[in-house]
Amino acid sequence: MAQSIVKVIVDAPLRGQLDYKNVPELGLRVGERCIVPLGRRNVIGIVAGFSDSSEWPVNKLRKVAGRPDEIAPLSENWMRLTAFAARYYLSRHGMVAVPALPKFFRRIPGPNYANSLSKLRDRKFKSNDAPEDIPLLNKEQEAIVDDFSQSKGFSPALLFGVTGSGKTEVYLRLIENTFKADPKAQILLMVPEINLTPQLVSRIGNRFKDRVVATWNSSMAEGQKASSWLACHEERASILVGTRLSVFASLPNLKLIIVDEEHDASYKSHEGVRYNARDLALKRAQIEGIPVLLGSATPSLESYRNALEGRFRLYKMKKRAVESAELPRITLIDTSLDRPQNGICSETAEKITDTLEKGRQSIVFLNRRGFAPVVECKSCGWHSTCPHCSAYAVFHKTTGRLTCHYCGWSMKLPTSCPKCGSYELQPVGRGTQRAEEELEVKWPEAKIMRLDQDSARRRGSASRMLEAVHSGEVDILIGTQIVAKGHDFKKVSLVVVLNTDPQLLSFDYRARERLFSVLMQVAGRAGRSGEQGEVLIQTKYPKDSLFRYLKDNDFEGFAQEELKARKTASMTPYSAQALMISEGKDIREVLDFLSQVKKIGLSVQTGSVRFYDPVPQTVQKVMDIERAQLLIEADNKMELQRFLAVFTSEIENRQFKNVWHIDVDPLSF
Ligand code: ADP
Ligand code: ZN
Ligand code: ZN
Repeated sequence: MAQSIVKVIVDAPLRGQLDYKNVPELGLRVGERCIVPLGRRNVIGIVAGFSDSSEWPVNKLRKVAGRPDEIAPLSENWMRLTAFAARYYLSRHGMVAVPALPKFFRRIPGPNYANSLSKLRDRKFKSNDAPEDIPLLNKEQEAIVDDFSQSKGFSPALLFGVTGSGKTEVYLRLIENTFKADPKAQILLMVPEINLTPQLVSRIGNRFKDRVVATWNSSMAEGQKASSWLACHEERASILVGTRLSVFASLPNLKLIIVDEEHDASYKSHEGVRYNARDLALKRAQIEGIPVLLGSATPSLESYRNALEGRFRLYKMKKRAVESAELPRITLIDTSLDRPQNGICSETAEKITDTLEKGRQSIVFLNRRGFAPVVECKSCGWHSTCPHCSAYAVFHKTTGRLTCHYCGWSMKLPTSCPKCGSYELQPVGRGTQRAEEELEVKWPEAKIMRLDQDSARRRGSASRMLEAVHSGEVDILIGTQIVAKGHDFKKVSLVVVLNTDPQLLSFDYRARERLFSVLMQVAGRAGRSGEQGEVLIQTKYPKDSLFRYLKDNDFEGFAQEELKARKTASMTPYSAQALMISEGKDIREVLDFLSQVKKIGLSVQTGSVRFYDPVPQTVQKVMDIERAQLLIEADNKMELQRFLAVFTSEIENRQFKNVWHIDVDPLSF
C-alpha cells in the first residue's frame, strides 16, 4: 500500500489535517504520536491517516521528524470520539486530541525521556486492604443491577435515586458484573470536579483489591497524570475514576461508563474547547457500543426528559438504603416573621443549640464566600467596586482586603471612604467568613470549621478538613456548595440553609433547577445513619412551589413543572442554543461586530434557526475587557449543528480581527 504521505493533526487552529512526507523506516501507524515540524519548531502530532497524494505540491512537503517512543497507537474509536467532539464544539481535531493527552506525552522528548518513561510505568497505585462488608442489595438495587447487566451494545440509562439510596453500591455491582463478563474489561467512572471524596476511591479500591484503580483530576501533579494515563492506555488499570477530562482517556478495552452526579455543572468545560463531558460520555458509549449509566438524585432536565421520552431507560430508587435512615424533614422559616439576628432566625438558633447538646453535627450552608459581598459608605453611598470589572470587590476579613472574585484584583480595606472621606464604611450582606464569626460569638464552646474555596486553599487540602468532619472533631461545619457534594457524613443531623433568595429571584432560567439541586444535595447530608435528619431553610418566600416540592422530596414533580414552563417558552431542552461571545476594549465595537455577525448569520439562516439581539454579558467587564454575547437558537441540536458549520466557516472566511468564540450548549448566560 502506498503510504508516501502522512496526514497529521496538531494542536493548532488549522483547518483540516497537515500533510508530511512519510519516513517508512519509522513504521508509523494511524493513531500513533509523531514529531513533525510546524513553522520553525517541532511539535507532537497524531497520525490521522495516510495517502499517496496531496493537495499540495509533494516536493514542497516536509518530512515527518520522528517518533517520540514505542507507545501503542490510540484506538480508532478514540480518534472518532475526539473528531466528533471537535466537530460538535466547533474546534479542530488536533486541538481536542492533543490537549487530551497528559503534558508528558505531548512534549518533544528530552535526553532523559526514556528513563522517566520507565519510571512512569513503575509507579505503584495505592492498594487497599481494609476489610469491607459488602451489603446485601435491597430489592430496588437488585432489580436495577440485574436489568442493567443484561444490556447489550449501546444502551443509555438514568439512575434517579434519592441521596443515600445506595447508588454507589449499584455502581460497584455493575463494575463487578462487567468484570465477570470480561475479566480484562476497563471501566470509566466519572465524578464532578469538586468531588472531594477520597471515600469513593477507597471504597472502590477496597472492593476490587486485585485491580489497579487509576484516578484523574485537574489538580494532580503532571507525573501522576502521565502514569495514570499510561496505565489506562496499556490496560494495566481496570478502573479509572476521573473528572471531566477523563472522558478522553485512552481505555482500549472500555466496557462500561458511569457518570455520577450527571447534573453537575463541572462536567462542562469553560475554557478552550467548551465540551460537556456528560454528553461526550454518551457519545463515547455509542461509538464503543457499550452501556452507559448516568446517576443523580436530581437529574438534569435534559437527561430526565430523555428518560421520560424513552430515549434512556429510567431506574428509580426512592428510599434510603440504610433501613433506619429516613429522608430528612424540611422546615421553612419565614424570615419576615422570624427576623434573623446576625443572619440566624431564633428557631434556627434553638435547633443548633439542641444539636450541639445532643453531641451531633450541624452544617450551615451559605453559597457566598468572603466576609461581605460589598462595603458601603453610609454617608455618600459609595460602593466597593472593582476598577477592572463590572462587579463588587468582596471584603475578606481574614486578609483585611477587598478582592474581586472575577479578576483577583485586591486592595487593603481603606480606613475612610475614598470618595467623601467619611469613616462610616460598612460591610453589607453576609458571606461565609462573617457567618463563621457570628457563629463563633453565639456558640463560643462549639468547634466550628469553615469550608470554602478560601479556607480549602489556605489551611491545606479540603479533603483533610472533610476528614475532620468524619472523625467528629467538628461541631458546626459552615460552607459553600463544597459541603453539599456527595459526602457520606454519619453524624450530621441538622442542615441549615441561610439565604437562597438571590438564586430564587435570579433571571437566569436555569437558576431554579440549580437551586433545587443544591438544596436537595445539601439536605441529603442530614440524617444518613439512623437518626431523623432535619433541614431548616430561611427564606422570605416560603410559599414558592420550589420549596413545596423540596419538602415533599418530589424531584419529579418539580422537574415536570419546570419542563412544562420550559416547553411553553421554547427553552432548553426544548430548543438548542449556542452562544457567540466576543470581547474587546470598547463595548460599542464589540456590539457592532456581533450585529455584523448576526447579519451574516441571517443571510445563511436555515430551518428553525433564530437570533437574539447582541447584548453585553451579565458581568460586562472583566479585567478591563468588555464582553458581549449573541444567542443563537434552533428547535433541535441537529438543525443548530448544521447551521453552525456553515455559519462559522462564513465568519472565518471574512477574517475579522475581533476576538470571539462560540459556546455550544452553554450552561449559563
Ligand atoms: P448514594 O450514592 O445514593 O448517596 P450510597 O451508595 O453512598 O448512596 O449509600 C448510602 C449508605 O447506604 C452507605 O453508607 C452505604 O454503605 C449504605 N448502603 C448502600 N446499599 C446498602 C444495602 N443494600 N444495605 C445496607 N446498606 C447499604
Ligand atoms: Zn463616602
Ligand atoms: Zn475585577
